[in-house]
Amino acid sequence: MQLIFEKSRPGRRAGHVPAHGLPVPEVPAGLRRDEPPRLPEIAEPDLVRHFTKLSTRNFGIDTGFYPLGSCTMKHNPRVNERFAVLPGFRDLHPLDEESRTQGALRLCFELQEALVEVTGLDAVSLQPAAGSQGEITGLMLMRAYFADRGEAERRRKIVIPDTAHGTNPASVTMAGYELTNVQTDARGNIDVDDLRGKVDEETAGLMLTNPSTLGLFDENIEQISEIFRSAGALMYYDGANLNAVCGISRPGDMGFDIVHINLHKTFSQPHGGGGPGGGPIAVGERLAPYLPVPAVVREGDGYALDYDRPKSIGKVRGFYGPFGVFVRSYAFIRAYGPQLREMSEAAVLNANYLLALLRDAYELPFDRLCMHEFVLSARRQKREHGVTALDIAKGLMDHGFHPPTIYFPLIVPEALMIEPTETETKETLDTFADAMLAIAREAAEEPELLKEAPHVRPVKRLDEVRAVKNPVVRYGFEEHEEPPGAPAEPRQLEAQ
Ligand SMILES: *Cc1c(COP(=O)(O)O)cnc(C)c1O
Repeated sequence: MQLIFEKSRPGRRAGHVPAHGLPVPEVPAGLRRDEPPRLPEIAEPDLVRHFTKLSTRNFGIDTGFYPLGSCTMKHNPRVNERFAVLPGFRDLHPLDEESRTQGALRLCFELQEALVEVTGLDAVSLQPAAGSQGEITGLMLMRAYFADRGEAERRRKIVIPDTAHGTNPASVTMAGYELTNVQTDARGNIDVDDLRGKVDEETAGLMLTNPSTLGLFDENIEQISEIFRSAGALMYYDGANLNAVCGISRPGDMGFDIVHINLHKTFSQPHGGGGPGGGPIAVGERLAPYLPVPAVVREGDGYALDYDRPKSIGKVRGFYGPFGVFVRSYAFIRAYGPQLREMSEAAVLNANYLLALLRDAYELPFDRLCMHEFVLSARRQKREHGVTALDIAKGLMDHGFHPPTIYFPLIVPEALMIEPTETETKETLDTFADAMLAIAREAAEEPELLKEAPHVRPVKRLDEVRAVKNPVVRYGFEEHEEPPGAPAEPRQLEAQ
């Protein structure tokens, strides 16, 4: 496909607006450009076709099923987009007077209250703009809490299971804590015996995703909670998977002190491609004094931003936080109302339905009822036919599906992590299952074809090692030199 600049022909224009005849203000000579900007000159139909074609070469939730495990790529109701662009919300200036932004503050306050209810905790800050920012904010709260008690020096360790999302250990390290890894047992729960030996008076807390990235609810959660409580440590709940448990179980009731919520996964905010996201945190009473400022509070009959919090860790995000995200999430929660648990029930049902269809064709490392997602392994396909999880993912692209998450969690070899979400119909799940079953047959009958997939996508199989070591990042730069020391023959990517 050509760049729009290559389609440019001198003198072509998109759109014609007659001259307005109004006086044009003089631009001071020093600010005027010497030459016209280098813009493509193109006819309107070609312009429209160019960008329309480009948009169809991108895969998104609007073009197909997107079972990317852990990422919760579900349909977001369009009506929430309408609410987010209501002029009263859209045109709000972050420095506007509180007296003129009462509606927006009320929305923030009521969203905080809804999240208090969903998490079973006591106070919420809407400030963090992503799950990962919620994590680091939560760890800073832990530090502030222990500093107040004179224990910050001693409590240096955070316990994380080996199934954790990559952001967890990254946040722990960034927050200046030491990592203690705990193993997973044969049922996919935290190994409680391993845990007992790893929690002591140096432990600041636990970071746990529940349901885990294996899509399993930890069956020993009460025991785990007891171990940390009796050691005087805090418990952080990675709530990115809250989609599975809304209205059914609550982190606060399980004994957790801090939770982050991914508004862009559970509560209707389009995501992918870097955002914007929302990662509010909810905390128990004893951590509330340390929450970031400003807090949105009730004041008389109205609402106000409260900066007067002497123990607060400070600001973690500009102004109110990602406000447009709040509008969508608020609308989503209000639309479900007390029936919110139906969302989670449908997410869990869809995942178990798909699992039932696929369990004979692929290995299932942890054979249990799953929550909103499940993890299969392509170990058998690799052993018997040399076909890897990567080949299967690429093969799915030829069937018109976005691949699932692969090679994660790390404890499952050749992992295929599938999350259908609650918004897909039975027909879509059936078609996806048919494709997965067809690929399992292809792996046995024509493995070579799969190893070269995708065959019908604009970009074919890439040599990923070479793409990393020798990236071609300049358009039209076809001949490139090998960097010194690069292998003469492209190496095949060795999947772990
Ligand atoms: C997505 C996710 C995160 C990180 O959230 P971001 O908003 O992408 O920063 C953390 N933990 C789990 C389990 C996740 O799925």
